[in-house]
Amino acid sequence: MSDEEPAPAYAECVLCQKPTEYPESYKGITLCPVCEWQEAQRTACSG
Ligand SMILES: [Zn+2]
Repeated sequence: MSDEEPAPAYAECVLCQKPTEYPESYKGITLCPVCEWQEAQRTACSG
């Protein structure tokens, strides 16, 4: 057992470059949970 697990190949968030829950092979915009939430708030509040 080791505490140092190899970093999973997750895509970076396009906004803050933090690891997301999307695989690197994901086609499209990848957002981390935080940015995803913020984007959702933004679109929800538009208008
Ligand atoms: Zn982010």
